[in-house]
Amino acid sequence: MNKTVNWDPPISLELLKERKSLHEFQEAVERKLEKSPGGAIAVFNMRQFKYINESYGREKGDQLLASVISAMSQRSKKGELFYWVGGDVFYVFIDWWDRDYVRQRLESYLMGATKVSERILKNSQAAFYCGAVISNPESAAENYSLERMLTHVMYALEKAKEFPGNKIWFFDAELHEKELQENRVELQMQRALMEEEFKLYLQPKVDPVTRRLKSAEALVRWQMPETADGTLLSPGAFMPVFERTGFSSRLDQHMLQEVGNLLQSWRKQGIRPIPVSVNLSRRTLYEENYIRALEWVKKNYEIEDGEITLEILESVAFGNLERANEILERVRDMGYRISMDDFGSGYSSLNVLAKLKIDELKIDQAFLRGMEKGSREERILETIMKLAKDLDIPTVVEGVETLDHETLVKSLDCGCAQGYLYSKPIPADEFTEKFMKNGGSDYRFQLTEM
Ligand code: C2E
Ligand code: MG
Ligand code: MG
Repeated sequence: MNKTVNWDPPISLELLKERKSLHEFQEAVERKLEKSPGGAIAVFNMRQFKYINESYGREKGDQLLASVISAMSQRSKKGELFYWVGGDVFYVFIDWWDRDYVRQRLESYLMGATKVSERILKNSQAAFYCGAVISNPESAAENYSLERMLTHVMYALEKAKEFPGNKIWFFDAELHEKELQENRVELQMQRALMEEEFKLYLQPKVDPVTRRLKSAEALVRWQMPETADGTLLSPGAFMPVFERTGFSSRLDQHMLQEVGNLLQSWRKQGIRPIPVSVNLSRRTLYEENYIRALEWVKKNYEIEDGEITLEILESVAFGNLERANEILERVRDMGYRISMDDFGSGYSSLNVLAKLKIDELKIDQAFLRGMEKGSREERILETIMKLAKDLDIPTVVEGVETLDHETLVKSLDCGCAQGYLYSKPIPADEFTEKFMKNGGSDYRFQLTEM
């Protein structure tokens, strides 16, 4: 080959006749793996191939392809396979499974392709990326089939495309499983809402001194059809996905409506309602639709002032204190109470507590976990309680599971306790039967420690 610097070697387009099929690649890899299990598969793409074809012309596109094929196949070592399967798709098999080694090899292929593209496109170069999957001899023994490797390598390629900072993306089984689960959840959430699979559960909030029922918190449970055997999904399994997709506000609206409906149905049955609180995701409060729903629920179900409390997270106010207060004022004017949930669980700031207009403070259950007499947690809790009292904000302690917890809550002069000691969250109908038809706010818990 002529190596004169300023002379471009002629590009033979003959190479473009040597296109192989993915099936051929698959068969070749199969033969390799049969002889010696373990290896890596990678698939390469060019970022702007379509654009290059359009703006430089088809002929230039073909020249580029042929040169890339030539450069990459020259880099291919003994034992490796390089197949061009058409378009800007190139497959490579590497007969080793050490990740660093594989990465090095893939970088070499990338380098070859990039360099040659620079020569063809003159002042510019094509950007290549690749997805890779590794099967070591153990995973081969665990039936990690070639078929699955080929699916997974495409997934890795998509990831590499998605994150331009990473030219090489290795398939990650854990991430993949998580995304599959999220996709399943996302696909199902709209349907679940229509099919009424989101169930209203209630958990009592109790006066720890008299052990009388004071109010309740509404908590969502997802009864999926395939878990009709009685297993329910708790919010931890789906709320994070809903929050990412924005569906959480829609679900919060649904729960609000369910609570409105329940309060009205108690009234119709001659039962005096107790206040019920609903939870709001971070962004729900800023959704105009939700504010409209608040108006509608109040009117439609004839809800009295103070009967529904909105539990918000302190993070709704971060960097947005004024705006948050504006909305809270509007909502309180409508007759809703505001509670700050999970206080002390995150980056609690006393500033938020002092500035945000709230009617109740819920102390996160983490405080009671493993709390010992005289511990730092206890001192912090005492201080928060004192501060809340000074600010005239009633408090609720969450996660009261034992009589010792209750004693502690009482000693802190906290007016309200919530936790498994009194009851786990139960379906709304059961709550009505058990507590509302037995006195409602006169209901007294008879306790035996669990
Ligand atoms: P949260 O609002 O702080 O609700 C209290 C959580 O603590 C509930 O979990 C409840 O079952 C649990 N819990 C209550 N007492 C005890 C106890 O004594 N020990 C222990 N270990 N746990 C106790 P759940 O129902 O799984 O809900 C988790 C979180 O999901 C809630 O925390 C709330 O932030 C969110 N969530 C629930 N329903 C909704 C909803 O409709 N909308 C929104 N946006 N979030 C919701
Ligand atoms: Mg809550
Ligand atoms: Mg909470």
